[in-house]
Amino acid sequence: MDTVKKLALSRDLDDGELSALISSDRFDGELREQADAVRRKVYGDAVFIRGLVEFTNYCKNDCYYCGIRRGNKNAERFRLTADEILACCEEGHALGFRTFVLQGGEDPFFDDGTLCGIVSSIRERFPDSAVTLSVGERSRDSYLELYRAGAERYLLRHETADNAHYGRLHPSVMSAENRKKCLFDLKEIGYQVGSGFMVGSPYQTVENIVCDLRFLKELDPDMIGIGPFVTHSETPFANFESGSAELTLRLLSILRLMFPHALIPATTSLGTVSPTGREDGLRSGANVVMPNLSPVRVRNKYLLYDGKICTGEESAQCVACLDARVRSAGYRIVTDRGDVRRDGGSV
Ligand code: SAH
Repeated sequence: MDTVKKLALSRDLDDGELSALISSDRFDGELREQADAVRRKVYGDAVFIRGLVEFTNYCKNDCYYCGIRRGNKNAERFRLTADEILACCEEGHALGFRTFVLQGGEDPFFDDGTLCGIVSSIRERFPDSAVTLSVGERSRDSYLELYRAGAERYLLRHETADNAHYGRLHPSVMSAENRKKCLFDLKEIGYQVGSGFMVGSPYQTVENIVCDLRFLKELDPDMIGIGPFVTHSETPFANFESGSAELTLRLLSILRLMFPHALIPATTSLGTVSPTGREDGLRSGANVVMPNLSPVRVRNKYLLYDGKICTGEESAQCVACLDARVRSAGYRIVTDRGDVRRDGGSV
């Protein structure tokens, strides 16, 4: 049996077979076809939308790849107030969003009390909507409080599952071990958890990617976010090339086959390295898009990487543009919380 069929049937392969799939473009057509078939079986042509609110770009960390790292003295810092965050959600709700993703740097200003207050006000005001947090590594107690305040989902990419590679992307105060511990804490508390990694990050090898896939199998997340590494000129990785759309698309298909039920976004970074990146992502197995709901005045300040798309548009414009892209790819946006369908579909 050929490798792609085997992957579709067994949802896994041995390391050698996975490496071969990752390293070659030979299987891309078949991978994409199989991934789309599986995605349609579980989720039909639905594309879930998540309203992204980038609410602070202050960060205490110094990740070598990230434009809002503490060491970037040229980043113009901003923080939204609770009222501003609620106003973004209000606008998003009117546009059909039923999930709000609050993302930010690791900003100590947003301590548990402050963040819990924001989460609970959103849940009170929009009881039909889910709140997803993406604010990095915190203590188990903190995750528990936020869960009790009404956050049901958490996005925390593991970035790379290999300890040595992790050490080349982050200062030594950070560790893959702690990041993984956070993910298991979140899962144990009851969050729907999302993880993932950057594609083509500096020093990444095929073996590292296999290790990422193995870690994801172990974690079994509900959501998986991958996107190409994109160079930021004011980071230590200014001279590294961005990751490729091609490899990202191949990995999206592999992920769909390994995790038929996962919610997988076609990311902004994919749309940044290729003009049709998000449409191609959807055709390769992704089933989520995350339009930006942040106020226009701060959009061009949340710059994780250079050339980020959609930084000048109003939320409504962003949604209309994405809606057209989703349709052109052959799918349709649904107004729904878009919870994971572990029992849905017949895969
Ligand atoms: N502070 C939060 C949110 C980080 S930003 C946290 O730690 O989870 C969200 C994601 O953007 C990161 O997890 C990382 O994978 C991605 N990212 C950061 N810099 C990037 C870059 N230069 N290119 C592509 N993706 C990047």
